Amino acid sequence: MSLAKIFSVTSRVRAINSSSCVIRHAQYSTPSEGKLEKVYPTDVPGYKYVNAEDPDMSFKAMTDRAAQTMFWTELIRGFAVTFAHIFKEPATINYPFEKGPLSPRFRGEHALRRYPSGEERCIACKLCEAICPAQAITIEAEERADGSRRTTRYDIDMTKCIYCGFCQEACPVDAIVEGPNFEFSTETHEELLYNKEKLLTNGDKWESEIAANIKADHLYR
Ligand code: SF4
Ligand code: SF4
Repeated sequence: MSLAKIFSVTSRVRAINSSSCVIRHAQYSTPSEGKLEKVYPTDVPGYKYVNAEDPDMSFKAMTDRAAQTMFWTELIRGFAVTFAHIFKEPATINYPFEKGPLSPRFRGEHALRRYPSGEERCIACKLCEAICPAQAITIEAEERADGSRRTTRYDIDMTKCIYCGFCQEACPVDAIVEGPNFEFSTETHEELLYNKEKLLTNGDKWESEIAANIKADHLYR
């Protein structure tokens, strides 16, 4: 068996590998002159040739490659890209003096809201406490002299919270919300144990942003 036939048989066996959809070896064919030529099986259905093909050895391709090597054209093109980016607006922002946009659905620090009259919205139904998967909310309630039901204790352990947003979804009066504030890191664990006063203060501080976010998203709730 001639060398050409041996090449042809072995390489075809590699190419028709039923366990893989990738052809890694070129097949060799023997044209009429008896000269070996590589054939890349790009049109075999279900297969894709993934190896690097041999470089083009035409005169034009070879002179292009030689010019690139001699004149360092990759280097010059790299500098051109760098130079062009000097005049573009930077993608980075100067945090904390500049901040990126936030979605109205952003779930940040919790807050308890009030009505415009100053009355607390929360009616102590405890739905948020019941739905919280992290059991981060603790509520105690009692009836007021006017017959309304209000919380006497509303605590959130922010280190347990997973910011799922279930509490604000469950709340029938939009009292507990997750506001747009994400800058509330602390140095101690105790500072992240929020009580009712802290949550109401957050609500007073962020009310305009929270109300705007709820309005922007109201069609989807
Ligand atoms: S965001 Fe989720 S985990 Fe956090 S307090 Fe609300 S319900 Fe609980
Ligand atoms: S915050 Fe909302 S869900 Fe939670 S107890 Fe108050 S009214 Fe009910």
